[in-house]
Amino acid sequence: MSRVAWQLATVKSIRSETPHVKTFVLSLPSWTLHLAGQHYDLRLTAEGGYQAERSYSIASPPEQTGEIELTVEIIADGEVSGYLNEGVQVGDQLEVRGPIGGYFVWRGEAGAPPLLLVGGGSGVVPLMAMLRHRQHLGLRTPAVLLFSVRTPEEVIYRAELETMAAADNSFTLLLDYTRQAPPGWAGYHRRIDAAMLAEVVAHFGEVKPQAFVCGPTGLVESVANGLQAAGLAPEMILTERFGPTGG
Ligand SMILES: Cc1cc2nc3c(=O)[nH]c(=O)nc-3n(C[C@H](O)[C@H](O)[C@H](O)COP(=O)(O)OP(=O)(O)OC[C@H]3O[C@@H](n4cnc5c(N)ncnc54)[C@H](O)[C@@H]3O)c2cc1C
Repeated sequence: MSRVAWQLATVKSIRSETPHVKTFVLSLPSWTLHLAGQHYDLRLTAEGGYQAERSYSIASPPEQTGEIELTVEIIADGEVSGYLNEGVQVGDQLEVRGPIGGYFVWRGEAGAPPLLLVGGGSGVVPLMAMLRHRQHLGLRTPAVLLFSVRTPEEVIYRAELETMAAADNSFTLLLDYTRQAPPGWAGYHRRIDAAMLAEVVAHFGEVKPQAFVCGPTGLVESVANGLQAAGLAPEMILTERFGPTGG
C-alpha cells in the first residue's frame, strides 16, 4: 500500500481532553512510522456520496506503534469536528491517509538546537507529539512550550504537560491565559506579543532555539513576526496554520 493511500482505521478509544476537545485513538491496518509534527487526512463520506476531508496532526509519538492519536477541537458548526464529536463511537471505522508533511517536523536528532514550541489552542497537538518523542528518546535538549489558551479549562494535555515539566528541568511549560486566568495567577495573562516572545527567547541565553509555531492563522503570523523581532532567523521559525480564524 502506498504511504498516502486511504485506509479504514478503527476507533480504539476516545478521551475527553477539555470540554471542547477529544482525542481519538485509531488502530491502523497499515501503520507507517511517522515524524513528530506530521498529520493525517481524514475523510467522511455521506450516504449520497458527498465527501468532506480535513487534516489532523498526529498527537502520538512515533514510538506508539500500530495506532495514531488525533486530538480534535470541536468547532461550533464544524462539519467534520462536529461529526467526530457526536457521530463517532469506539469500534467505528474512519477513513484516513498519512502520514503527510515533511516540513513542520522534529526528528529529535542528537545535537539539534533547543526547542521553542509556541501553540494556540489545538495548535499544541503536533507540538505534543514532539515533546512525547523527546521524552521517549530521553533527550534533555532544552525545550520551552508557550501555550496560549483562553481559559484554564482549555489547557489540552494539562496533567501530562505538568507531570513532564515537574520531572524534567530541561523542559519549561509556560501557560498564557488570554481571557481568564486562575485566581492568583502570576504568569502570562494577555495575547502573545513581541515583549513576551523576547522574554521567552531570552530564556535560551546565547543559543538560538529552533521554533515551531502552530495554531490559528492570526496567532501564527504574529508569533512568527515577533520571533524574528526577537532575533530568530526566519529559517529557524517553522509554522503550521490550522484554521482561518483567531478562534
Ligand atoms: C495541517 C493541519 C493540521 C491540523 N491539525 C488539527 C488538529 O490536530 N486538531 C484540530 O482540532 N484541528 C486541526 N486542523 C484543523 C482541521 O483540519 C479543521 O480545519 C477543523 O477541524 C475544522 O473543520 P470542521 O469541518 O469541523 O469545520 P468547518 O465546517 O470547516 O468550519 C466551520 C467554521 O469554523 C471555522 N474554522 C475552520 N477551521 C477552524 C479552526 N481550525 N479554528 C477555528 N475555526 C475554524 C470556519 O471558518 C467555519 O466558519 C489542522 C489543519 C491543518 C491544515
